Amino acid sequence: MLEICALASGSNGNCYYIGNEHEAILVDAGISAKQILQRLYSRQLDYRKIRGVFITHEHSDHIRGVRVLTKKLGISAFFTEKTYTASWQRDQPNAFSLFTPGVSFSFKSFTIHPFLKNHDAIEPCSFRIEHAGLSVGVFTDIGVPDENVISNLKKCHAVFLETNYDDEMLWKGSYPYYLKRRIASDVGHLSNKQAFELLHEHADQGLSAVFLSHLSAENNKPEIAFNEFEQLKTRFAIYLTSREEAGIVARINKQ
Ligand SMILES: [Zn+2]
Ligand SMILES: [Zn+2]
Repeated sequence: MLEICALASGSNGNCYYIGNEHEAILVDAGISAKQILQRLYSRQLDYRKIRGVFITHEHSDHIRGVRVLTKKLGISAFFTEKTYTASWQRDQPNAFSLFTPGVSFSFKSFTIHPFLKNHDAIEPCSFRIEHAGLSVGVFTDIGVPDENVISNLKKCHAVFLETNYDDEMLWKGSYPYYLKRRIASDVGHLSNKQAFELLHEHADQGLSAVFLSHLSAENNKPEIAFNEFEQLKTRFAIYLTSREEAGIVARINKQ
């Protein structure tokens, strides 16, 4: 059994909880440590189960709270060497460990599968977290899905998948042109449509739950993203995540 929850998801802050009966990990800590602890408490998730934080890349919406959180909980954060070096000094925790993209490793009762993805950071990674034959993916900040994303998605039973923007809202919106181009580029973010196509073409039978993640406040709306997936709702449960509060705690079991 795995319990999963998006404690925060959006272009202003990301933090995802993945735990079993005894232990848990976080992917990213892009809101304050105080907020992370409050949101865990609000969903009856026990912070004492958290054993480590796995960092995807150095953008502040993914690492803002990591330094204080690791200190408070007495745990380590995991970075690639380049990501650690590229992070602001104020965000660098004292307790950290390094991992190599593409090299899976065991951590407590989990197997961590980190892989490179297309995004405008120094060495951006996504994670598939495995425990007892179940896999959960955290796939956000992806300009365009590549073979790494596709092959890991196929193994997932649940996935936090980026639906950053609606094409029409982005291009008609108020962002400056260079920023619109950056977001829509191959090293920017996944649109609702790109995420839909990825799932439509590549999701495997084992996938039972999809959490629409990392929505932009300016260029997307939860209901627009949710409606984009209408066609797929017979294949798996679709959930929204929130920037304001922790989302639902879902239990993932082997079918
Ligand atoms: Zn981000
Ligand atoms: Zn990013």
